[in-house]
Amino acid sequence: MTSLPAVRIAQGMSRRLRRGHPWLFSNEIEMTPDTRALPPGALVSVVDSGGERLGTGTFNVHSLISVRLLSRDPDQAVDSAFVAGRLRAALALRERLVPAPHYRLIHSEADNLPGLVVDRYGDVVACQVNTAGMEALLPDILTALDDVLAPSAVVLQNDSPVRTLEGLDRYHRIAKGTVEGPVPLTENGVRFLADLNEGQKTGWFHDQRDNRAFVARLCPGRTVIDLFTYAGGFAVQAACAGAAAVTAVDRSESALTLAAAAAALNGVTGLCRFVRAEAFAEMERLLAAKERFGVVVCDPPAFVKGRKDLAAGLKGYRKLARLAAELVEPGGFLFIASCSHHVSPEAFAEEVARGMALAGRSGRILRSAGAGPDHPLHPAVPESAYLKALTLQLD
Ligand code: SAH
Repeated sequence: MTSLPAVRIAQGMSRRLRRGHPWLFSNEIEMTPDTRALPPGALVSVVDSGGERLGTGTFNVHSLISVRLLSRDPDQAVDSAFVAGRLRAALALRERLVPAPHYRLIHSEADNLPGLVVDRYGDVVACQVNTAGMEALLPDILTALDDVLAPSAVVLQNDSPVRTLEGLDRYHRIAKGTVEGPVPLTENGVRFLADLNEGQKTGWFHDQRDNRAFVARLCPGRTVIDLFTYAGGFAVQAACAGAAAVTAVDRSESALTLAAAAAALNGVTGLCRFVRAEAFAEMERLLAAKERFGVVVCDPPAFVKGRKDLAAGLKGYRKLARLAAELVEPGGFLFIASCSHHVSPEAFAEEVARGMALAGRSGRILRSAGAGPDHPLHPAVPESAYLKALTLQLD
């Protein structure tokens, strides 16, 4: 028998969990004084109102998502060996999916470690610990990482706003080793640099790997503009694929420094131009100057950060699609993406279509995609798919 404290599901509320969903919301739990008093992130045994033991999870009284299930085994020992087992399974999957050791190693619920994200850059790993349950498990996670990967450095990028919903503070620190300057990575055979100290999110957006490869196939012989280039992901792969010329735009100087360094690493500096500018203003300027491109890439930051910005954000995507479509030469290609969690694929596609119509452009969707398979989804939480990417040819 487990010695974990029990959290009891309210009567009639266990169905979703039984059907495979990994969460219990706070209104689905019997909030007894004992339950309320559990420390945030405590390991608990989940029992239904009839006393049946349904699994082992973490509990946080401060979060709307009160229980996150770690295992359907009610007697599961949750320790560093448990975490190491999950890491090994995730590692075996990634080694099958991605040739270079640069990928998202753990994607939360889908890798059975709810609340944990781990990105791998060879022997450097970057973690995002997003729940109190995972924060409490952090010592075991670090031990398990040592057992499975023996990384030279571990960076904790625990500065996501979602931590606030869990009652956690936000911090960024190195838990092991040192990280001197940007770390190298290879994606689709092209070399890049990611800054884990000052970079955004976890330093590199692994989620676009397959989309970058697809766009690169369209680029040979064409002029390309990559708006919101960040560290040059789309731009440098386009240049390496044989683009005639590449313009990479970002408003951040440090991002453009990484992008330019990536171009140099791959010997394509001569093909690339790096422009520090606000993307919308730059698009307007280029349109006024009658410049057009064979491939236009638009992969901006999330325009919709919360439900209240939805209407304004959708308008932003429409405007982005309009300006970007106008920049595409006849027969050229448009890649446009949204990483806004609150924007559905249908709503995004509709705004892109409306933007194209406003630009007076017709065309066809060649590919509609999300994040790569190293960002798997839990089958019961498909709404956690945040990335939407459309590639179109315009007439
Ligand atoms: N396309 C990139 C990821 C983009 S991340 C990739 O493939 O990895 C978003 C980038 O947009 C950041 O580098 C940020 O500096 C830049 N950015 C945000 N708002 C901007 C704006 N209004 N104009 C230009 N760049 C912007």
